[in-house]
Amino acid sequence: MFATTLSQNTSQITSKEAIALEDRYGAHNYHPLQVVLTRGEGIHVWDVEGKHYFDFLAAYSAVNQGHCHPKIVAALVEQAQKITLTSRAFYNDKLGECEKMITEFFGYEKVLMMNSGAEANETALKLARKWGYQKKNIPKNEAVIIAVQGNFHGRTMGIISASTDVSSTNEFGPFLPGYDIIPYNDLVALENSLKNPNVCSLWIEPIQGEAGVYLPTNGYLKTAAELCKKYNVLFIIDEVQTGIARTGKLLAADYEDVRADILILGKALSGGVYPVSAVFADDHIMLCIKPGEHGSTFGGNPLACAVAVAALEVVRDENLAENAMNMGIIFRERMQNLMAKYPNKISAVRGKGLMNAIDIIETNGKTAWDVCVNLKENGLLAKPTHGDKIRFTPPLVINAEQLDECCAIIEKVIAEF
Ligand code: PLP
Repeated sequence: MFATTLSQNTSQITSKEAIALEDRYGAHNYHPLQVVLTRGEGIHVWDVEGKHYFDFLAAYSAVNQGHCHPKIVAALVEQAQKITLTSRAFYNDKLGECEKMITEFFGYEKVLMMNSGAEANETALKLARKWGYQKKNIPKNEAVIIAVQGNFHGRTMGIISASTDVSSTNEFGPFLPGYDIIPYNDLVALENSLKNPNVCSLWIEPIQGEAGVYLPTNGYLKTAAELCKKYNVLFIIDEVQTGIARTGKLLAADYEDVRADILILGKALSGGVYPVSAVFADDHIMLCIKPGEHGSTFGGNPLACAVAVAALEVVRDENLAENAMNMGIIFRERMQNLMAKYPNKISAVRGKGLMNAIDIIETNGKTAWDVCVNLKENGLLAKPTHGDKIRFTPPLVINAEQLDECCAIIEKVIAEF
């Protein structure tokens, strides 16, 4: 079926050995499915024994362009043979080119490049506070950022200080002050909070990914943006997971024609090839940060820049947003039909584009985790989130025939569950 031989896909190490090594020498900060991957191509991955799977997680939406996209890998290899890291102590010949391309791509005057999604979020928070002191005259150390319940923006101290998820916060205190945490999708709570003159920004995901693919009511983002304008507050949108075609548009906020004052991207900005993240804003915001006030040794390095440009060209040239939109419609219809057939097993289907989730009803002690184990046995990889939810986010290069095969696997596993 695939243009690869078994020997290409097998490894020197067995699954059991690889798992034992991680268990023995690595921190136990994840709870992975028992599968050890050694190769990926498009929507396909293979384990060390040569077994094939469809990847329906896509590295938490970092691999939107598909595993090892040849154009992105070629850009990485070509750049790696020239120069990889200069630091920002010097100029390099890739950063400016990349900054021009990606600011034009997303329609902003400036970009600040970082590495991980969490770093980009931290950058956005710092930028919003700077703006608050310089442009809104908020008294020193009094700036407030509005965050929402159920958020997920990463794992740093600044970020988890606004988290409402106990597993992210338990025994990590004391936390940073300066947040007002309100319910998601609640415009009344938002307006009340915005009345505080020390608020510098609202900080949200347009769809809450880690929380289980929670979509706000249509119009929430647009009204939230208008309220921010009314109260002279910056609207920060974290599109680290939803952005770059995942939801069927380049950005999830595009569904409501909303333009964030500060836009945060990561993950698929590199197609999963290399950590690249970015914060976008116009000059009147971005230039509040002056030389020496923020940075990262690796941020904006030539390798990252070459990879990011190639990754975005792939999204544009292969019409990945359109494909995500079309495949998502087919996927949700299949899952809705499945829920209609098994209302005792599935309680909800939701999503946009190829960012979807189903909620599993626990039966005889069997949970979403068991469904994912069975999916794995049947050749499809997905991971539960928050107990009963399974997120389905395949690479956006999936075609209708492959999607049909994958839906058939999910249908079979649910029928047998
Ligand atoms: N923001 C959102 C919306 C995310 O989903 C994630 C990761 O899942 C992050 C930020 C953090 O990104 P990273 O893991 O690259 O730090």
